[in-house]
Amino acid sequence: MPQELLTTKFPNVGTTIFTVMSALANEHQAINLGQGFPDFSCDPHLLDAVNDAMRKDQNQYPPMAGIPELRKKVAEKVKFLYGKEYSPEHEITITAGATQAILTVVLAVVRPNEEVIVIEPVYDSYIPAIDMAGGKVIPIKMMARKNNQGIVERYELPWDELAKAISTKTRLIMINSPHNPTGMVWQAEDLDRLADLVKNTSAIICSDEVYEHMVFDQSFHQSAASHPELVKRSFIISSFGKTFHVTGWKVGYVCAPQALMAEFRKVHQFNVFTVNTPMQHGLASYLDFPEAYTGLSNFYQQKRDFFKAGIAKTGFSFLPSQGTYFQCVDYSQLKIPEARLNESDFCQWLTSELKVAAIPVSAFYHDAQNSNVIRFCFAKKESTLQSAIERLQRL
Ligand code: PMP
Ligand code: GLN
Repeated sequence: MPQELLTTKFPNVGTTIFTVMSALANEHQAINLGQGFPDFSCDPHLLDAVNDAMRKDQNQYPPMAGIPELRKKVAEKVKFLYGKEYSPEHEITITAGATQAILTVVLAVVRPNEEVIVIEPVYDSYIPAIDMAGGKVIPIKMMARKNNQGIVERYELPWDELAKAISTKTRLIMINSPHNPTGMVWQAEDLDRLADLVKNTSAIICSDEVYEHMVFDQSFHQSAASHPELVKRSFIISSFGKTFHVTGWKVGYVCAPQALMAEFRKVHQFNVFTVNTPMQHGLASYLDFPEAYTGLSNFYQQKRDFFKAGIAKTGFSFLPSQGTYFQCVDYSQLKIPEARLNESDFCQWLTSELKVAAIPVSAFYHDAQNSNVIRFCFAKKESTLQSAIERLQRL
């Protein structure tokens, strides 16, 4: 194509880090602990349910907002878990995964130059979504607390910075708990604090809760849906891909008060219109078995602990993983020259030389801030984790 035809509309958008690292892992036949996805199968009952729907010829367009059966099951699940009653007809929409839901929220509510607050490290689709809407990104950084050897020990919510940033000009605040990549989990007091900061503003909240069923150490997920004030101004987003080990199906949902949902659907209908029918039927019947998600925290806590025990015998230092299926580590104390590399180069080296892929946390910052912290995904069979551990123990 002649170059003069187009100068890029999005000069700051490259290829997502998850695609880049998975391609590198394939190229080097590395164990892929980078991009977040399970390497084990979903429950065969779920496959049967989807198969049944296809064979019953449930294969034509479903209603724009999703099939009523699935919206009703989502309403029941949210009521059961968080005590909030959403109307399946007006307040729940089935989406093509959480990524589409996030972009749709942003496009539906953000006008050009309106302010959108994100908290870094931030999931990599948020800032491009704001760019696409022409919004103004206001990035606030979580505090990376270091010990006296300069090793990052934990991330904390930046309340002072948030208090300064939130104003009557704020259109949208994007939050995420359990948090990718840090594994940090918001507590009830955190939601209270946020509610207090937004109370005299017209800020809307986009609450990304895709890891809602992966919270460890007897802690509980605090949903914005369970907060009496925040719920009135929040879009709540979840993803069946995470919950049922089917990331490739790309099915999720959004709950929001009717007025917000009406705006959401204006975009949704011309973005994807709707989401594939047989998966929706399969998921609707599978949601009759809450054990499928109520047991998930234990399931992943065992994997976290297994991975952690193995990595404890290496030079990496662990950050707390309170939820999600991610474990962050600081590599600055490794006794190898590569410990001086930045996160991106370190991950490339780890993938090509040690044959274990990870994600640089710098990819979650608009300015690629480097803290010598990388993210591993432990949503893997024990045998995969064991092989990765053996390789990492050479460090
Ligand atoms: N938000 C966060 C925090 C995520 O980690 C992910 C994906 N891993 C998504 C959104 C996107 O989810 P989906 O695959 O359902 O689009
Ligand atoms: N959310 C997944 C992760 O954090 C990746 C999803 C994707 O590749 N888009 O690894």
